[in-house]
Amino acid sequence: MAGAGGQLTLESSLPVAGRADINCRDNTVHAMTDKLTIALTKGRILKETLPLLSHAGIEPAEDPATSRKLLLETNHNDVRLVILRGTDVPTYVRHGAADVGVVGKDVLMEHGAEGLYEPLDLEIARCRLMTAAEVGWAAGGSRVRVATKFVNIARAYFARQGLQVDIIKLYGALELAPIMALADLIVDIVDTGNTLRANGMEPLEEIASISSRLVVNKAALRSRHDAINDIIDNLASAVEARRDAKT
Ligand code: AMP
Repeated sequence: MAGAGGQLTLESSLPVAGRADINCRDNTVHAMTDKLTIALTKGRILKETLPLLSHAGIEPAEDPATSRKLLLETNHNDVRLVILRGTDVPTYVRHGAADVGVVGKDVLMEHGAEGLYEPLDLEIARCRLMTAAEVGWAAGGSRVRVATKFVNIARAYFARQGLQVDIIKLYGALELAPIMALADLIVDIVDTGNTLRANGMEPLEEIASISSRLVVNKAALRSRHDAINDIIDNLASAVEARRDAKT
């Protein structure tokens, strides 16, 4: 239990040694009754998050790539990691089941970021949210059909363009939709563009530039101010170091 959001905390029922802040830099471990919980997005984002966490002084006790555990202890007694699907990260953080999370901007744009503070662009898992179509496709007279898992983003985007389109919700393999004549366009994440090209498609317009963000439960930011600010500061310098190393 993260103890955020004014919800039940273990502190009320246990003899309290006193909640203390973690210090990620000097590896100080303090007695605590409940742990600061960081929700991570599994997959590519997790792979790119771990080096940043490591630079910030937080190491998982087991390798998340090989461990089947979804809840991992760390080298800090008072910090633990929970490994989730990206779309679940904002929910865990919003409800205070996790204090802090790492999630793609696409997820925040699609599912909303209410109740979340977004203090840091982690500059990892960079990609673009784009419209795409089969090579040579041109809009005809009939209403354009758009297949996507990002229905809210797509609806808002085409509304801004003043275009009326039919949105078709799919959960994966979006590139199949035009091939199978289910849709004219797709709205999807593009990194190298290889997946599009391999399926006879081309990117058209960029809707948004995407990267992973640190999100924080607003109540936790107040109640665990020092510990969370330590994490934000340490991750910010990890992001900076990564940027410097690339230039
Ligand atoms: P690419 O072929 O390199 O353009 O990658 C496209 C596919 O990889 C997309 O359909 C996504 O499912 C996935 N992908 C690439 N980058 C990301 C990312 N940063 N976050 C989530 N999915 C990604």
